[in-house]
Amino acid sequence: MRLDKLIEQQLQTSRKEMKQLFRTRQVRVDGEVCFQQNKNVDSFLHEITVADQVLQTHDVYYLLNKPKGVVTANVDQEHLTVFDLLHLADFRSDLVAAGRLDRDTKGLLLLTSNGQLVYDLLHPTKKVIKTYEARINEEVTQEDIAAFADGIVFLDGTVCQSAPLTIVSYDVQSQTSDVRLQIQEGKFHQVKKMFLARGKKVVALKRVAMGPLELGTLPEGQYRALSLTELQQLK
Ligand code: URA
Repeated sequence: MRLDKLIEQQLQTSRKEMKQLFRTRQVRVDGEVCFQQNKNVDSFLHEITVADQVLQTHDVYYLLNKPKGVVTANVDQEHLTVFDLLHLADFRSDLVAAGRLDRDTKGLLLLTSNGQLVYDLLHPTKKVIKTYEARINEEVTQEDIAAFADGIVFLDGTVCQSAPLTIVSYDVQSQTSDVRLQIQEGKFHQVKKMFLARGKKVVALKRVAMGPLELGTLPEGQYRALSLTELQQLK
């Protein structure tokens, strides 16, 4: 959260009063006088004091294992949303999802009240690596791996960055392949469109990691708060 917004909210200051606080060196972050009004701060990581009074940001960070059939949206007439999976006590109207997963995609989704963090994580220059496990409707070949490494070109001409693709297994009976794919971008339906460009179809998709965050053994439909270490790695 922005430091000036936090001060405004918590101390009910006018913008003029708030500016005065900065000017008179009364705002400190981790004990250091701070002049940067738009600094992104968080009570997990920083101690923020204004005129020797400690402030709390109250930002929350949840790692959810999204099940299939649930939509990444605030409201939906037909389907459960990812926010419906939160316990009532944990729900806040300012929560946002860091990127969206399709309704039929499972796995890791970060929900947070820290909009600035979401913006930063999704910004292309951040190059946050998203790791997916996918089942493909036919055999994935060495040619596919090479094409993903070169940069897949969507059917509409959009060029993707190089993406490491690994074949995990091939099932002779069903003729499906299980693969692991890492992408840095977050284009709409990116994984599905990448395989489509190779004439193949994703039949199951799960996000297992995003930057330093890992899904691990968190059961489907469950969520947990990020640890302090995870939060520090994320920023
Ligand atoms: N790529 C997709 O095609 N779908 C998702 O949900 C995520 C990445």
